[in-house]
Amino acid sequence: MLITGNSKEVSRQVDFIKSSGKTVGFVPTMGALHRGHISLVEQCNKECDYTVVSVFVNPTQFNDKEDYKRYPRVPEEDSKMLKEAGCDLVFMPTEQEIYPEPDTSIFDFTPLDKVMEGAFRPGHFNGVAQIVSRLFDIVKPDKAFFGLKDFQQLAIIRRLVQQVNRPVTIVDCNIIREADGLAMSSRNMLLNADQREAAPTIYRVLMQAKELVTELNPDQLKAYVTDQINVNSELKIEYAEVVDAGNLQPIKAWNDAQSVQLCVAVQVGKIRLIDNINLI
Ligand code: AMP
Repeated sequence: MLITGNSKEVSRQVDFIKSSGKTVGFVPTMGALHRGHISLVEQCNKECDYTVVSVFVNPTQFNDKEDYKRYPRVPEEDSKMLKEAGCDLVFMPTEQEIYPEPDTSIFDFTPLDKVMEGAFRPGHFNGVAQIVSRLFDIVKPDKAFFGLKDFQQLAIIRRLVQQVNRPVTIVDCNIIREADGLAMSSRNMLLNADQREAAPTIYRVLMQAKELVTELNPDQLKAYVTDQINVNSELKIEYAEVVDAGNLQPIKAWNDAQSVQLCVAVQVGKIRLIDNINLI
């Protein structure tokens, strides 16, 4: 497994692999890897001849400086996990390598970026689009793998590649959970014992909500989810939205959309967790 922080070396290596007719798959991450990330790597291994993983905590997508500082960084453990998972190339650049000068590009994904994470984390998706565009320029993958854990991000990445007409196939990968249902996240390791014990409530309530679709309308379901999560004193809901899975806009009636997703963001002390479930 090749590990490098040099973008030119990545491009050269990918060109070389592609010149022999092989396909290149790409998994962008911010590191502090867990089984959720590894499931993306495994999917990539299955679908592509050569697997590239990037590990980079992208400053431009953090609207909260403290969150950026606090974000876990464990490059050695990440490299070890990636080697075991059968990754071929790890790209671990410095900030200087990715942004030799500040990135001023502005993206507009209206209406996808105006709700939920986009509304509560101003500038977040612009930063995501900046880093993903730069990484796609360097890696030029045939396929790129993203987790449904970040449901809104996936919709935005699909729109991004459409807007700039990039020849990359976006593959969505299922959410991997802990045994108690908590969606795996690099931020989970920042939870204290009480918070960690409380956090599985999030998915438990999402599953209860799925069972209540026939009894409640979308607004009532939102209220139910909000109340049930807030019952736990360690948890404070930031938003619960019932949205059209296609355009991410809130719906008022179940037949307003073909596929409906329930998305939540929950503050657990200083740590912010997100999760989602398909309702219809
Ligand atoms: P991150 O390192 O948090 O930026 O995540 C990198 C990629 O891994 C993104 O496409 C995430 O959606 C995906 N991912 C993170 N957690 C999970 C999980 N629990 N299950 C599946 N994919 C995940």
